[in-house]
Amino acid sequence: MKPFFILLKNYIFELLYPRNLTCVLCHNEVEDSELCDICLGSIQFNTGRVCESCGRMILSGLYHICENCKMLDRYYDRGTSVVIYDEYVKKLIFNFKYHDKRYIAHTMASYMLKKVVELELEIDFDYIVPVPLHQERYKSRGFNQAEVIARFMCESSGLKLNTTLKRIKQTPALNNLSLEERHGALQEAFAISDEIRGNIIIVDDIFTTGSTMNSCCKVLKENGADYILIVSFAVGS
Ligand SMILES: [Zn+2]
Ligand SMILES: [Zn+2]
Repeated sequence: MKPFFILLKNYIFELLYPRNLTCVLCHNEVEDSELCDICLGSIQFNTGRVCESCGRMILSGLYHICENCKMLDRYYDRGTSVVIYDEYVKKLIFNFKYHDKRYIAHTMASYMLKKVVELELEIDFDYIVPVPLHQERYKSRGFNQAEVIARFMCESSGLKLNTTLKRIKQTPALNNLSLEERHGALQEAFAISDEIRGNIIIVDDIFTTGSTMNSCCKVLKENGADYILIVSFAVGS
């Protein structure tokens, strides 16, 4: 194992077992664990059998690749996610995004790094790239949630933040669109201002169909990226 990962493991251990006795996610009081009973009982972790490509939980079937990945021309190499995106996680992420509770992002970031370590990839990463927000949305929200998470991940891992990837087109909510419609909506939605060489971890808070993430990866690969690992906090089941 590489020194980077050993460092990371020690750091994460300290983060996940903090001295102060509050839940790392909601900050309720706890007795002797990192998560309170409410969070622990409510969160569904993305464990067990997962897609070999994007890291999404696979519930049934013979395939090693999930339905979403099968439909995409994939530009990412691997992926991983911490939890399943359900009502509880939705509230948690909503609190972070709209009530600006950044400690939640800090916890998300540490869990996300832990997932990266668990993959035991023999790869030295060069950059962490957040999925960008369009300028308009950035202005109205005041921050990009993916970038906040990415910054925490950089602080903990020593990797460099790279924000050369930009969203140059506003995209509608993609959930209810067909694959072709999503493809159309994301056409030329992302661009890059500089070439980006090396191995990349691309980060977002939520991973649903994978179309947005894949469009980002396409631009990154076309501009010099080598290996791309996609890491999200929550994944749609
Ligand atoms: Zn809690
Ligand atoms: Zn997949």
